[in-house]
Amino acid sequence: MTNIPSFDLTRNYARVKEEINVAVLRVLETQHFILGPEVEALERELAAYLEVKNTVGCASGTDSLVLAMMALDLKPGDEVITTPFTFFATVSCITRCGATPVFADVDPATYNIKSEDILAKITPRTKAVLPVHLFGQMCPLEEIKDELASRNIALVEDCAQAIGAHRMIDGRVARSGSVGRMGCFSFFPTKNLGCYGDGGMVSIADDEELAQRIRRLRVHGAGTTYFHDEVGINSRLDALQAAILRVRLRHLEGWNEERRIVAGRYMLLFGEKGLLDFIKPPVELAGGRHVYHQYVVRAKRRDELQKYLAERGVTTRVYYPLPLHLQHCFAYLGYKKGDFPTAEALADDVLALPMFPELLPEEQERIVSEIAGFYAKNA
Ligand SMILES: *Cc1c(COP(=O)(O)O)cnc(C)c1O
Repeated sequence: MTNIPSFDLTRNYARVKEEINVAVLRVLETQHFILGPEVEALERELAAYLEVKNTVGCASGTDSLVLAMMALDLKPGDEVITTPFTFFATVSCITRCGATPVFADVDPATYNIKSEDILAKITPRTKAVLPVHLFGQMCPLEEIKDELASRNIALVEDCAQAIGAHRMIDGRVARSGSVGRMGCFSFFPTKNLGCYGDGGMVSIADDEELAQRIRRLRVHGAGTTYFHDEVGINSRLDALQAAILRVRLRHLEGWNEERRIVAGRYMLLFGEKGLLDFIKPPVELAGGRHVYHQYVVRAKRRDELQKYLAERGVTTRVYYPLPLHLQHCFAYLGYKKGDFPTAEALADDVLALPMFPELLPEEQERIVSEIAGFYAKNA
């Protein structure tokens, strides 16, 4: 029996191979590799897609977060409120700028940071709030955005897992990255819009000066080449990745729709096989569109289930096994076990099932049958 991977980029490449190859050859003919017209075209297309004024391409999703935090001029003592249940880069960008991450617990149904917990953590030192649209679903930013604006606290969205997700906010269908002052995106190959290497982008909803600042920060802080207004970093997107992204952006809506179909089919199969006492599927909040970067369930006896599936050729993953407030490198922040009970409970029972647009119905049936087999033996 063939193995079922947690994602398979080769199937996706097969669908767009001709278009991608043409785009790559076009760049090779120009021999222009760093920034330049291809990157500028992508930046315009992404700004139009997200309905924001500016986007700035950079070298990775991690760098997009670092650039956003640098642009806020964080100082030691400044606080940034974020979630402990996320990828490491969400928090390291804060500490790298010398500021202090302040964690707020997450919602057990959506896994996203809770609005009321964010508001409860605000102090006079709070400079920014950095919510993560985890696994492809936007946080209900309408619950916090006006309060943050009135206190002059920057809202920065970590959109690395949620390009194309949207939510009704202020009577508008708002895409992730268009609500806060900035949005941070990753084009890591397995993200919903991935390139063929590392890449990232900052979206800037409407502040022209801020966009210019980030453009400068990504080229060592130089406004004009060799004339440095401040000390930035080297974080550029390259033309080959931009050309690949321009092709893939044209397919993003369709691929996100296919992810939603895969998610819907998992739901049906869990119901059919009577698994809902053992598996809690992810919840899609009313008023928004989940784009299922990951399909993460909560599973009883998670570790045993994962091992059982692996033995039968089904690859699953755990995002994330240790919340960030309990990471060794952040011990100095003084958090302890029990501080964020929901994040800690999730770390013990979440399981990401295979999820990608090309996953076949018969593969999903096999995955869910194997899960049913496990609980029949281990109920
Ligand atoms: C992937 C990811 C990042 C970092 O992106 P890279 O391109 O891998 O640097 C940041 N935040 C979240 C939530 C992510 O999933």
